Amino acid sequence: MAKITFQIGGVHPDDSKIARNRAIEVLPLPQTVYVSMAQHLGAPAKPVVAVGDHVKVGTVLAEPGGFISAFVHSPVSGTVKKIEPRKDIAGNNVPHIEIAVEGDEWEEGIDLSDTLVREIPTDRVAVLDKIKACGVVGLGGATFPTHVKLNPAPGSKAECLLLNGAECEPYLTSDFRIMLERSSEIVVGAAIMQMVLGGCPCKICIEENKPEAIKAMSEAVAELGYKDIEVVTLKKKYPQGGEKQLIAAVMKRQVGSGALPISVGAVVQNVATALAVYEAVQKNKPLITNTLTITGDCIPEEKQHNYLFRIGMPLSYIAEQAGGVPENAAKLISGGPMMGKAIANIDAATVKGSSSILYLSEAATKRGEESFCIRCGRCAQACPMGLEPFLLRRLYAAGDLEGLEKNAVQDCIECGCCLYSCPANIPLLDNIRMAKGQVMGVIRARAAAAKVAAEAAKAAESAAK
Ligand code: SF4
Ligand code: SF4
Repeated sequence: MAKITFQIGGVHPDDSKIARNRAIEVLPLPQTVYVSMAQHLGAPAKPVVAVGDHVKVGTVLAEPGGFISAFVHSPVSGTVKKIEPRKDIAGNNVPHIEIAVEGDEWEEGIDLSDTLVREIPTDRVAVLDKIKACGVVGLGGATFPTHVKLNPAPGSKAECLLLNGAECEPYLTSDFRIMLERSSEIVVGAAIMQMVLGGCPCKICIEENKPEAIKAMSEAVAELGYKDIEVVTLKKKYPQGGEKQLIAAVMKRQVGSGALPISVGAVVQNVATALAVYEAVQKNKPLITNTLTITGDCIPEEKQHNYLFRIGMPLSYIAEQAGGVPENAAKLISGGPMMGKAIANIDAATVKGSSSILYLSEAATKRGEESFCIRCGRCAQACPMGLEPFLLRRLYAAGDLEGLEKNAVQDCIECGCCLYSCPANIPLLDNIRMAKGQVMGVIRARAAAAKVAAEAAKAAESAAK
C-alpha cells in the first residue's frame, strides 16, 4: 500500500516508543478521586451534586456550562466530600468534585460485558444525544465536545471521516495499544460516526512505524465488513497527526487560515474517541476511563506502562503505582515531548484527555546555549503551517501585534518543529506561543466588539421601523 504524508515542513524525531510492548493494565482504585469541571474545551461544567451525596460509577456529576461544554460523570462510587477549587497540572485553580471511594457500584444500564455490539443504530439524532449525554470529548488533545463536531452547521457536508491513529508524538503508545487490543470496538465506533455524518467514507490513518496496529485494524475492518472504511498507511513524519496535516496527506486538501476542517469536507476524530463513542452508544458507558502511558528516557522498559485509568485519579497516585517518580527525572510532561505541557503539580487529577506521564532526564531536556539567528531558514523549512518562525519571533520581540497577525501567527499549531530545527537554540516555540496568545486576544476582542456593534445596529433599525 502506498504511504502518504503532508508536503509542507515536518521533522523526524526518534519515535522512542519504548512502552509499545506493554499491554494495557487496569489501575486499582484509589481512596479519593478529584473530578475537574474543566476537562473539555469550552465552558466548565456545572455541578449538579452536593456535598454528602452518594454517587455510583456513571452518575452525572455536572452538566454542560454552555453550547461548547460537556457532561461529567462520576468515575467511582462513593460520597461527595467537597466541591471546591483545586490546582490542575499547570497549578491553576479549577473547580473539582472530591469523592471518597466506597466499593465499585455502577449505574444500572451500563453494559460491562466484553460482548461486541456490531449493529449500527440508524437514528442519528438519538446517537448524537447519547454521545452528548455520555460526555464524550475528543481524546486526540483538543477535548472538543464530540457531539458538536459530529454535527456540522447547515450548509457544511462531511465528505470524509479521518480516524487519527497516527500517534506521531514520540514516546506515547496508548493509541497504539488500543488499536491492538480494542480494534473491533474502534471500528464499530468509526462506523457509528460515519452513520451520524451521513455515510461518508472513513479512512483510519496509521503511521508506518506501527505495523502491528495496521494489521490489527485492517483485520477488524475486514471482519466487520462495514461499507467504505479502510486503513491507510502514513509515512512517519511529525506532526502527521495534526488535523490539517492529516487532511493534506489523505484528502490532498488545504484548510485555509482560521478555517475548520469541515470547510474542506473533513471531520477528524482520534481512535480513542471512536472507542469512547462505541462505549457510549453500544454500551451506555459514559467517558470515565481512558488509557495513558507512563514512559520516558530515564526509566527502563519494565517500569513503563500503559494504564487504563479512571478520570480523577491523581497523577501522583498513578506514578506511585508505577514505582514512583524516578530520581533522575529532570522534567515531567503531560503529553508528548513536542507538544505536551510541563506538569507543575504532580498531585493534579487526571482528566478525560490525559495521555501520559513522561519523565525526561536532564540530557533529554537540556537546551544548548542560545545564540544569534544565523538566518539559515531551517525553522521555516520545518514549519508544517508554512509560517516563518524567525520572523514571528522578531515581530514578537518588537511587540508588533499587527505584523504578527498579518504573518498568521494565529495559524501556529504549536508543534515545536521550529524549535526542534533551530541550530541557534532560540526559544522559538515559547515566543511564538506567547505571541499567538496575544494576537488571539486581539482577534477575540475585535469579534466581540463587532458582535456588539451589529446588535446595536439591528436594535436601532427595529426602533426606527
Ligand atoms: S510551532 Fe508554530 S511556528 Fe513553529 S513550526 Fe510549529 S506551527 Fe510553525
Ligand atoms: S532556524 Fe534558528 S537560526 Fe535558523 S533562521 Fe530559524 S531562528 Fe534563525
